[in-house]
Amino acid sequence: LKGDNQNFNSGEREFEKALRPLSFEDFTGQDKIVENLRIFVEAAKQREEALDHVLLHGPPGLGKTTLSNIIANELGSGIKITSGPVLEKPGDLAGLLTNLEANDVLFIDEIHRLNPVVEEYLYSAMEDYRIDIMLDSGPNARTVQIGLNPFTLIGATTRAGLLTSPLRARFGINARLEYYDAKLLTSIVERSAGIINTPIDEVAAYEIARRSRGTPRISNNLLRRTRDFAQIKGKGRITIEIARMALTALNVDQNGLDEMDNRILMTIIEKFKGGPVGISTIATACGEEAETIEEVYEPFLIQEGYIKRTSRGREATELAYKHLKIKPNNRTG
Ligand code: ADP
Repeated sequence: LKGDNQNFNSGEREFEKALRPLSFEDFTGQDKIVENLRIFVEAAKQREEALDHVLLHGPPGLGKTTLSNIIANELGSGIKITSGPVLEKPGDLAGLLTNLEANDVLFIDEIHRLNPVVEEYLYSAMEDYRIDIMLDSGPNARTVQIGLNPFTLIGATTRAGLLTSPLRARFGINARLEYYDAKLLTSIVERSAGIINTPIDEVAAYEIARRSRGTPRISNNLLRRTRDFAQIKGKGRITIEIARMALTALNVDQNGLDEMDNRILMTIIEKFKGGPVGISTIATACGEEAETIEEVYEPFLIQEGYIKRTSRGREATELAYKHLKIKPNNRTG
């Protein structure tokens, strides 16, 4: 999958890890979700039971993995991390499940991409903490039932709509993460700058924040690149001038839209008269995968009011024309 979580190199991964909040206290924003999770975690701890299974959904980079790690930390439990596409066979899942200690967390990222056969096994594991494993095949086939320690499954997905209903029904706690506003992201940028020992002016932190597509991962990545500009073009401090210079160089426009955002808007307007046009048609014209457009780009463009979804496809709004400085009455094509 491409998008803002694409093209990770190991440096970026290390950087992400270093900036990841480890407790509810350090986690900024998503107040309602965090408030509830605190209570559920505390209650489960008091009863010495496993926390109910948790489903976290929302666009990439908003903190689903971070929150999952925090939940395990706050429970005082271990966490095993995997993802839907990695679990190819029931045996892969069984291996993980049988290694969980009592009340541990199993985190499955991209849970909407689970192999249906593997998913089937997950049902009894979630419900009764047991799995039935088939041994041998043909005349020797038999199943053995394996009991598991009580555990918490945390599933993360960018596409809650793609989850099957039996799977969805097995999560007791269901939370949708929202995009962050510029003020919250400013404090995230300031916190991250502190961790990487880079002095930053408040206006500069705000500038990075408001141009981050509402996404902490993007804020942190832009901060990292801006720090390079501060080091080479400035005196090490991130000032507003440095921030603007870096953001321009990185093709992040005044409203915080990146190249692909703009390409999508331009395509709808110039090639398809402003729409309505189907997502796969847009994807082909933009040279991007439809899935990525739907998961990464479209939610933000819709939230910010640049496009709207209609029964016949996506349409560019007046705001999109204004943003690209195209007059709606001069529609081309
Ligand atoms: P997701 O799993 O939703 O794709 P992650 O949990 O991997 O997102 O978050 C991406 C990065 O953004 C993490 O490295 C983390 O440092 C940062 N981040 C996410 N949410 C927050 C937050 N609420 N406060 C501070 N940093 C955050």
